[in-house]
Amino acid sequence: MGRLDGRVALVTGAARGIGAATARRLAQEGARVALADLDAEGSAALATELGAAGTEALSLTCDVADAAQVQQTVDRTLERFERLDILVNNAGILRDNLLFKMSEDDWDRVLAVHLRGAFLCARAAQRVMVRQTYGRIVSVSSTSALGNRGQANYSAAKAGLQGLTRTLAIELGPFGITANAVAPGFIDTDMTRATAQRLGVTPEQLQSGAAQSIPLRRIGQPSEVASVIAFLASDDASYVSGQVIYVAGGPAGILM
Ligand code: NAP
Repeated sequence: MGRLDGRVALVTGAARGIGAATARRLAQEGARVALADLDAEGSAALATELGAAGTEALSLTCDVADAAQVQQTVDRTLERFERLDILVNNAGILRDNLLFKMSEDDWDRVLAVHLRGAFLCARAAQRVMVRQTYGRIVSVSSTSALGNRGQANYSAAKAGLQGLTRTLAIELGPFGITANAVAPGFIDTDMTRATAQRLGVTPEQLQSGAAQSIPLRRIGQPSEVASVIAFLASDDASYVSGQVIYVAGGPAGILM
């Protein structure tokens, strides 16, 4: 018996990194999963992997910043699985730059993917969840919500997600829907590896430098975020709503 037996989850940005780890974890716990990503090949490969392991998985191409594509993604999830219990707002991008060099496009695209994307997905998902009088919405924020050099766009989006989460909890609670967020610190994914490349250091150099300022003295793995998301998506967290759990190897105040 899995903790998520009978549940259907939609994970955005599921092709790799934290999203893929989350989809794998939710599947291991018994959920059927819809994998939404811009990267159709990556999500299709993961659907095949999960299928081979006995999970019903559906791969969907979706830009979460596009309202029509989001609606289509939720519609196709419903057509296939007939319900939607868990939404994980995970899709994300970086367009880091110091404020004086940050373009309007850098600002707009980051806000569009993280914040508009989470809004569009939550709005589409709640229509189903309200009918079911059951739902779990988990959004992926970041320690950067507390402010981080070179990330005016990203930190604003990630702080915005925390406000959105609390508001969803208030508005949707009467319908049996919880909304929570996880706020990871430094996690070993392509996203942080690309940051190393941008800074002109190796991923290992960036990771070991970051580890020194983390109380646990190491960076995190995607599976360590996925396990907290799975908890929030499960009935073990049935009375937890509107919360942000930092998954950062220490208290929230430690930044990359
Ligand atoms: P990642 O490895 O770069 O994966 C992100 C995934 O999201 C990619 O598959 C990407 O597809 C997809 N994506 C990007 N834009 C999208 C869009 N508009 N619609 C649908 N999918 C889209 O990143 P990650 O490190 O796993 O990060 C996952 C989430 O955790 C993000 O929200 C990130 O901000 C957050 N986070 C990460 C860290 C960290 O240290 N890694 C820390 C705190 C928070 P493409 O490959 O096609 O772009």
